[in-house]
Amino acid sequence: MTGADVLLLPGEPDPSVVRLMIFEVPAARALTRRQNNGDECVWCSAAEGLPPLCGPSAWRPHGCAPCRQIRVTYLRAYLAWKGHAQDCEPCRTEWCPDGWGLALAHGIAYEVAGKEEPVYCACGCPLSRTSRRLRPYVTDCLTGPRYSHTGPCTNPGAPASADEGTRR
Ligand SMILES: [Zn+2]
Ligand SMILES: [Zn+2]
Ligand SMILES: [Zn+2]
Repeated sequence: MTGADVLLLPGEPDPSVVRLMIFEVPAARALTRRQNNGDECVWCSAAEGLPPLCGPSAWRPHGCAPCRQIRVTYLRAYLAWKGHAQDCEPCRTEWCPDGWGLALAHGIAYEVAGKEEPVYCACGCPLSRTSRRLRPYVTDCLTGPRYSHTGPCTNPGAPASADEGTRR
């Protein structure tokens, strides 16, 4: 799948995307009572057309369709880039022409979703969203989308396994 495909994919997201959606929802303490109760979109506070974002639980965050689509696109872009990077040797050490389209699509989706700059890698290093060293962190996304980087790590306390780029 190319970067353009990822950004323009229609239809409902697959389960791998749905599973990560909870990590895109702001923390409960950052939300209003109405947002925590599912009466308003957790991102824009719209009060209509709100499907639940996660499975049944005591906490019921909801999101409007446009806000949800922005996060679906971001998660699709992240997972597509990660899918490439985890099987790509150049991605671990250098700028990768084969991964470039996916990296670009990810960058667009990241920015449209209003996510923070800089991106903090799993090792603790801050990187610009446009950095050529930025990579997906290629282990299971148990705590949501995470990042790594190629090249030397500036965080001496980082465990080696937290940084794919320095593992040779
Ligand atoms: Zn919304
Ligand atoms: Zn690559
Ligand atoms: Zn680092």
